[in-house]
Amino acid sequence: MVNYKDKKISILGIGKSGIACANLLDSLGAKVLISDVKDKNTLKNNINKISPGIKIETGGHSKNILNADLIIPSPGIDTNFSLIEEAGKKNIPLLSEIEIAFSLVNPKLIIAITGTNGKSTVTTLIGEIFKKAGKDVLVGGNIGTPFSDLVNKVNKNTVLVLEISSFQLERIKTFKPDIGIILNITPDHLERHKNMDVYAGIKADLFKNQTARDFCILNADDRYCAEIAKRIKSQIIFFSRQKQLKKGVFIKEEKIFLGLNSIFYDYLPLCVSNIKLPGPHNLENVLAVSASAIVAGINPEIIAEVLENFYGLEHRLEFVREINAIKFINDSKSTNVFSTLVAIKSFSSGMVLIMGGKDKGNGYFPLKKLIKEKIKLLIVLGEASDLIMEQLSGTTKIIKVPGVRQAVEVAYKNSSRESIVLFSPGCSSYDQFKNFRERGQFFKSEVGKIKI
Ligand code: ADP
Repeated sequence: MVNYKDKKISILGIGKSGIACANLLDSLGAKVLISDVKDKNTLKNNINKISPGIKIETGGHSKNILNADLIIPSPGIDTNFSLIEEAGKKNIPLLSEIEIAFSLVNPKLIIAITGTNGKSTVTTLIGEIFKKAGKDVLVGGNIGTPFSDLVNKVNKNTVLVLEISSFQLERIKTFKPDIGIILNITPDHLERHKNMDVYAGIKADLFKNQTARDFCILNADDRYCAEIAKRIKSQIIFFSRQKQLKKGVFIKEEKIFLGLNSIFYDYLPLCVSNIKLPGPHNLENVLAVSASAIVAGINPEIIAEVLENFYGLEHRLEFVREINAIKFINDSKSTNVFSTLVAIKSFSSGMVLIMGGKDKGNGYFPLKKLIKEKIKLLIVLGEASDLIMEQLSGTTKIIKVPGVRQAVEVAYKNSSRESIVLFSPGCSSYDQFKNFRERGQFFKSEVGKIKI
């Protein structure tokens, strides 16, 4: 384990994972400075959570951050600025919070999940399966509790299930999951990662320290995953919703099969139609979960039981209310076009779709065909509304509204019985809300106010 005592460490970003990491390193005797560009007042609540011995700098990063043996930028920080360049010249290493936490634990098993969409759903399901199997499991990372906050709870029997974003993978050195999963790679965060190859390359870093004893679980139906497979040193287990695999997990005749060297086992005692999670994309999630639980040696009956009884997470295709046979679905966690795409695929035609928020620069064109086929009315809102209207014009009737409140009103007025109102923004929430949760809660409360 790495010894951080008396090491000078600068942490950039006074957010959840930055604070967790700062407090952890402080407790280990490191000399920590935590710095943020936001002002003191904005950060008031966060600052209260920082341990007293830690130096705090707000309103911008000063040269002080360079007086360090190590710099830890938080996932949200774009490190493309001159002080970081200077740090490079001075050979000060830049590492991520997950690298630090990893260097301090020795668990039984680490399962790490990344991908553009589906990470939280898969991470939660894997955690539930291991819990049901009676394992000593901790779930965290990009979901809920930062890895650094779990460190002191890890022992030699712990199974760590970690959701990892591409930002968190950017600066790892030794981090290695025993089982690593990439769910899918579709355009997202290109404002930060420049292009798809860079983005896919960072996701592939999840496996860079793996050896032949580890497992790499990849989506055989995803173009970038298939590319990544060529460079993997660990044992690859593919999963596929669309095809039979010689080695991997796939669906055949409503059953989940395991292929091992071209011998096929009807592995899980479950019928796919009993899975409560909606949509074909969720079947991919289920396959990834099954693959990881199978290689970890979990009893197939336990895997099946958890899969059949999981109704999904809040803000992901969440059923909200039915009024006059019109169902309202909250998919506020849809922050990119591809999660909106899979949301539309999950329901039948004639829907009212509500989209919009802060644009992420990836374009809305991939939605054109499906919107034309399945959406009766598209309601657009927020900063991205004009761009969405422009790019999707000619597909269906489009109405622009200022915000979620008006969108709910217009959607209800324009829906017919037996139809669905789907709130799947395909944009981030930061133009009008603090995060996707606040946006989803607001949508749900507006739907709750509709009078019958
Ligand atoms: P993440 O943690 O990667 O953001 P979530 O499980 O929170 O993933 O789901 C985020 C959004 O993506 C939701 O709108 C959800 O319906 C959608 N989604 C979930 N799984 C997938 C998948 N495998 N492929 C595409 N979209 C997905």
